[in-house]
Amino acid sequence: MPSVLAYHRPGNLDEASTLLAGDNRRALGGGTVVVPDSRVQRDVGVELVDLQALGLDGIESDGDRVVMGAMVRLGELTTHELAPALLRDLARRELPSALRNQATIGGTVALAESSSVLLAGLLVHDAQVMLHGSTGRQLDDVLASGLDGGIITAVSIDSTGHGAIAATGRTPADEPIVAAVARTGADGVRLVLTGVAPTPIQVDPADPTAGLSPIGDFRGSVDYRLHLAAVLSARVVEEVAS
Ligand SMILES: Cc1cc2nc3c(=O)[nH]c(=O)nc-3n(C[C@H](O)[C@H](O)[C@H](O)COP(=O)(O)OP(=O)(O)OC[C@H]3O[C@@H](n4cnc5c(N)ncnc54)[C@H](O)[C@@H]3O)c2cc1C
Repeated sequence: MPSVLAYHRPGNLDEASTLLAGDNRRALGGGTVVVPDSRVQRDVGVELVDLQALGLDGIESDGDRVVMGAMVRLGELTTHELAPALLRDLARRELPSALRNQATIGGTVALAESSSVLLAGLLVHDAQVMLHGSTGRQLDDVLASGLDGGIITAVSIDSTGHGAIAATGRTPADEPIVAAVARTGADGVRLVLTGVAPTPIQVDPADPTAGLSPIGDFRGSVDYRLHLAAVLSARVVEEVAS
């Protein structure tokens, strides 16, 4: 059975939205996940709707905020002068270099991986997700309730303050088992953990493991993940407070 039945490259967002409303359509960002997934043989094929001709690849300053188009590649974020230092560092940590130059911010938000340190960085920077045809939503709400088929057009962050990460992985190059990302801004310290919930999650810096019930796997048991969460949180909160 064919896996990819058609490829569409719409020239505007309304056209993209109409195409995506059809059966078995998928938005194509950088394609690091959606392309291999679409090639898996299934009873029903998919049609891909490529978002690259929609002009969603700019990074702009808006007062204290920075607005990053959904098609901005993680590789560009690693060096962009408008990106806060923390986000440049986290984008560099996210994927191997070849994939970083493909993967997009929109795809990263839509996938909502538990281990994503970049998503953690967006959360501590008070990220709002812009969706075509709707008002902006807070990133934590999008992670908790999903996109409901919407097209992400941009992500806006508060670029002020300073942040840090503390992480533990099996090797320095491996994605962290647990990471703690913190930022000090006008509203105090924000702390986000990866690897302890289905998506990165904002926690109370004074009691970071309260209410957490991570899933254990071959990389780390439940107790080990909770231990890492407590230790890494203390370390990173101390760093941003100093
Ligand atoms: C080898 C490998 C290692 C990886 N390691 C990590 C890792 O360490 N951490 C991590 O978080 N992820 C990891 N990933 C997952 C993935 O690469 C990233 O999450 C990546 O950032 C996805 O971006 P993309 O643009 O390639 O998404 P795509 O593959 O293009 O799309 C992914 C999903 O998002 C949807 N989508 C894309 N853009 C939009 C948009 N603008 N609006 C609405 N929906 C959209 C697509 O329809 C699809 O469902 C890894 C993947 C691979 C293959």
